Amino acid sequence: MIAAILLAAAAPLAGWLLWRSWVRPLLDLRDLIRAIANDEPHAPIVRSSLRPFTQISADLGRVADRQRRQRRQLADEGFSLRAILGSMIEGVIIVDPPQRIRLANDALHTMFELTQPPINRTVIEVFHHPELAAAIERAFREVRSIVIELHDAPRIGESRPDRHYRVNLAPLMPVGGSTPAGVLGVFNDITEVRALEAVRREFVANVSHEFRTPLAIIGGYVETLLDGALDDRPMAEHSLRTIQKHSERLNLLIEDLLAISRIEHRQARLDCRVASVREILQRVIEQLDPRIREREATVELALDADLIEMDPARIEQVFFNLLANALQYAVADGMQVRVTSRLRGAEVEIVFADNGPGIPYRDQPHVFERFYRVHKDRSRDAGGTGLGLSIVKNVVMAHGGRVSVRSTPGAGASFRIVLPVHQQEG
Ligand code: ADP
Repeated sequence: MIAAILLAAAAPLAGWLLWRSWVRPLLDLRDLIRAIANDEPHAPIVRSSLRPFTQISADLGRVADRQRRQRRQLADEGFSLRAILGSMIEGVIIVDPPQRIRLANDALHTMFELTQPPINRTVIEVFHHPELAAAIERAFREVRSIVIELHDAPRIGESRPDRHYRVNLAPLMPVGGSTPAGVLGVFNDITEVRALEAVRREFVANVSHEFRTPLAIIGGYVETLLDGALDDRPMAEHSLRTIQKHSERLNLLIEDLLAISRIEHRQARLDCRVASVREILQRVIEQLDPRIREREATVELALDADLIEMDPARIEQVFFNLLANALQYAVADGMQVRVTSRLRGAEVEIVFADNGPGIPYRDQPHVFERFYRVHKDRSRDAGGTGLGLSIVKNVVMAHGGRVSVRSTPGAGASFRIVLPVHQQEG
């Protein structure tokens, strides 16, 4: 009887002990694992004093810690990668073996004016450049870096300009692997470099051409003299005069080229002070006086603005070139040049207007370019180098000003320069 009572009393106690020692810690462990799996910030405690449970709970705590550290590290690396890619001016892509784009930075979007996100699209779909796809394929196959140049011309309906890129393609090797998991492409925009190279090439070609003509003429006449013309007095004199004329031309050319190179190299070092437009113009008129008389020209000054901060020697060259041109290209004697100046806000506008032949409309946008001449032979015969107006433009721009021309063909030309009254500091 007593035993039965004791047994009846012990059954719940045994149940309670079983729950406390095994079931509760197991439920706590289940909750702990679930909390780790769901990445919850506060993991539940496993309530048990039994060693196996406390050990499992401690191990799981370490796993959770490591997981948290790795996640933080990944987030930090992701942030740094995004920051680096976002601040680059180069376009960057990562491409997988089937040539799908896995990553692209903002610079790439801007460079190619992409309208759709490139991620998960193929290289050929996004760039339409078979040579780029072929180079990426080679970088995968040959497992080496490849550099190509890409000429990206706009397609029909696109307004963007032609651009040139240098593209560096590098295979990305996974840790311990031997075949690339991807290819990294870095796009450098080299359009400006190519344009500058073209300008330099054209300049060298022009200079060589300009030198070749007078040198060939001088050489020809020297040969004529050596071949016997020395004894023929009129012929000898004619030869020497021609040689003199063309050596003077060469001199002018060299002077103009030196002027251009000086301006280009010393743009930051103009020797500026406040100077009088009228005084400079008067000096130029004096220098050109023989030509003014010869052409029976009149030069009228109507100067409402006078003092400007400038490099007087350079501005004198500008005025000289503009006035000399007006006299040079006049077809009839008795021509008139009118120089006006007036203040417009913080700028002074100076206009050289002549009643000469003017400039054809199609040539007007080009006359400030180096070596540009409307009538090549006429300009050369008149001693022109095709550099006068380009010097004018360079000097005025070095002063922070601008130049323009207006002309009605047959009814004169008017060259307008605008200069700031004060030069900017620095
Ligand atoms: P150039 O040494 O041949 O004079 P410039 O650069 O000074 O070279 O001028 C470029 C071209 O612009 C000249 O060849 C000429 O045809 C034209 N031009 C310049 N000034 C005048 C002007 N006042 N009237 C008509 N044509 C002009």
